[in-house]
Amino acid sequence: MIDIAIRGSHPGGNIILKSIEGDTVTLAQDLRDTNGTWFYWNFRIEHAAEKTLTFKFDEELIGHHGPAVSRDGIRWDWAKNGVMIDRKSFRYTFGPDDNSFYFAFCMPYTAADLQRFLGKHADDPRLSLKILTKTEAGYSAPLLLMGNRDKPEKHMVITARHHACESTASYMIEGIIDYFLSNPKLLDKVLFHIVPFADYDGVEHGDQGKSRIPHDHNRDYIDAPLYKTVESIIRHCGDFPVFAGFDLHAPYKWGGRNDFPFIAKSASPGKEEIERFGAYLKTISASRGGLVYDGTQDIEAGVEWNLNEPSTCSSFMRRSGAKLAFTFEMPYFGIAPARITQQGLRNFGKDFAAAIESYYYEVNT
Ligand SMILES: [Zn+2]
Repeated sequence: MIDIAIRGSHPGGNIILKSIEGDTVTLAQDLRDTNGTWFYWNFRIEHAAEKTLTFKFDEELIGHHGPAVSRDGIRWDWAKNGVMIDRKSFRYTFGPDDNSFYFAFCMPYTAADLQRFLGKHADDPRLSLKILTKTEAGYSAPLLLMGNRDKPEKHMVITARHHACESTASYMIEGIIDYFLSNPKLLDKVLFHIVPFADYDGVEHGDQGKSRIPHDHNRDYIDAPLYKTVESIIRHCGDFPVFAGFDLHAPYKWGGRNDFPFIAKSASPGKEEIERFGAYLKTISASRGGLVYDGTQDIEAGVEWNLNEPSTCSSFMRRSGAKLAFTFEMPYFGIAPARITQQGLRNFGKDFAAAIESYYYEVNT
């Protein structure tokens, strides 16, 4: 028996240790209250220095670039070439300083990451941190207000993590905020209401969050919501006219459109507004390069899973009067030359913010 410890007790952690035999560790993702299966996992290993170990799952849970790896649980990268054996397994040689080491399905993001980010803007009066609600687990779920709080011309709502594991959306939010704090002219006119963790408890606990039983947070925009965060979003958005609502997600694990950023469209007249916004995002992201939205992967209303389900956040935004509202999907991995990185996601968030700005000026002047 090798003297190692595998833990999922850190924020965002999720793992089931099935066995350690020789140098082979067999693992599974922890599905908890998921209906069916999903793919998120995130664990810490201790006492691993100078060992070479093989990690195996029974299902295909390793993305295009191998596992995400981190020494501190903060800065994440993909494992080097050669680490990934196949979609179910990888083999890692730990260095002398790698006594404690993290592996994950994707680039994780939890409340501690948001706190670190907000610390950089703590003295900025244009951005303020409020409490959306106390959650079922007793945490204070954050609500960020950014822009004109006295007399805004318009209100925009940005939400993420209705499905807890969809961490790529969180890095986009950092980029969106950074863009507007450095290019602030829209902040004179608009108040942004940002809910970084619509399923705060799920994010901290490392839940899948997708397809919870009896329904997940993005099926909770109903008359009697199950979750305090969703109930609070509904109540909060009742206090003002919603001009635009952006609900940020990550899609299925990989393959087809899931490897590219895309929009789940609504029917007309919302569809035309989405396409107007999308044209800006296309031009702006193409000019930066790297992670690019090109519109070709968008999913039309009524196609596949995009069935205008009234209990989703974006449907709620439309019911609240939003001219522009949609679900945005940011992949977990991407394909070279647009491999997902933490900084690439933040940069794409800036492009998304610039597209919001361009759209706003087109329709309001
Ligand atoms: Zn989602």
